[in-house]
Amino acid sequence: MAVLLLSATACTSESAAGSPPGFPPGNVANDPISTTKSADPNVAAPRLGPASAVDAGAVLEEFKGRGMVEHMEALQRVADDNDGNRASGTSGYEDSARYVEDQLRAAGYTPVRQEFTHRIDDKRVKTFNILADTEGSTENTIVVGGHLDSVEDGPGINDNASGVAAVLETARWMKETGIKPVNRVRFAFWGAEEDDLDGSRHYVDELSAAEVRRTALYLNVDMAASPNGVRSIHDGDGSDFEEAGPKGSQEIEDVLFRFFEDNSLPAETTPFDGGSDYEPFLRAGIPGGGLFTGDVESKTKAQVQAYGGSAGKDLDSCYHRACDTISNTNAELLKEMSAALAYATATYALAARD
Ligand SMILES: [Zn+2]
Repeated sequence: MAVLLLSATACTSESAAGSPPGFPPGNVANDPISTTKSADPNVAAPRLGPASAVDAGAVLEEFKGRGMVEHMEALQRVADDNDGNRASGTSGYEDSARYVEDQLRAAGYTPVRQEFTHRIDDKRVKTFNILADTEGSTENTIVVGGHLDSVEDGPGINDNASGVAAVLETARWMKETGIKPVNRVRFAFWGAEEDDLDGSRHYVDELSAAEVRRTALYLNVDMAASPNGVRSIHDGDGSDFEEAGPKGSQEIEDVLFRFFEDNSLPAETTPFDGGSDYEPFLRAGIPGGGLFTGDVESKTKAQVQAYGGSAGKDLDSCYHRACDTISNTNAELLKEMSAALAYATATYALAARD
């Protein structure tokens, strides 16, 4: 059972001047009350119950005007300048990283590179993840990530400049609102996802047992702007597909569904099929969830009724191809998915311990 410290009655109608859009009053940085909500560090095995005071409609409104498309355009230019790709270990990856780091620094973060060496076809390749933290209790770290690398065959704009854009804009928004996270949020931009999830795998492998326990959950975004896409959420408890995440994953699914329901936007579930950076977290017993707008499945008639688009056509027909460019994206869908990520991030950043 979740015990909520935040009042569920706080909503936009009560958001007086000084409260950022989407947030209840009393969570801005200069409010001394918010500093008293830190979790008790003496309680073992923290798992979070989501707060219910973040306003889904206000967050969606806010994200309709934010710069996710600009981030995808910038990463397209990076690919154009670097042989058409941004694969891990290449100059295109380095330039992608610099773009993300500049954006994070400008927003007030201190990004760090976590370097690692991995093997690709008998070659040892050096690459890195980028991590940037908010303030908040380290007893309950919320990791929010997406992979920064592309495949070698293309610029990787839907896969996964779109996810990078969603994570980056969530990070910027968190700073701009001035809210003081009760729980630390760690934004992660993974390297080498396209090489067997090596970046996120390295990150989780490096965690001590205590750090694993202090990682409350992981939120993933891998492909958030599929041109013929759908709004899908990972199936936390395996109720729709076979694979279930660790306990707590269903709550994450519920929080993400609540965002779409509150905004009257249809959404569906997608399985944990091991195909993205949530996998090492789930294997370590960390609750996980996230968003996905689809790749090579063809769109059903029911999906066309729910989301529009073309029946019988792939959700992303340029998946892992040279044509995964800025024209291979759906800006409207990206705004909705980014807002959903921001909503879930804020909800858990302000959450109380179970
Ligand atoms: Zn991907």
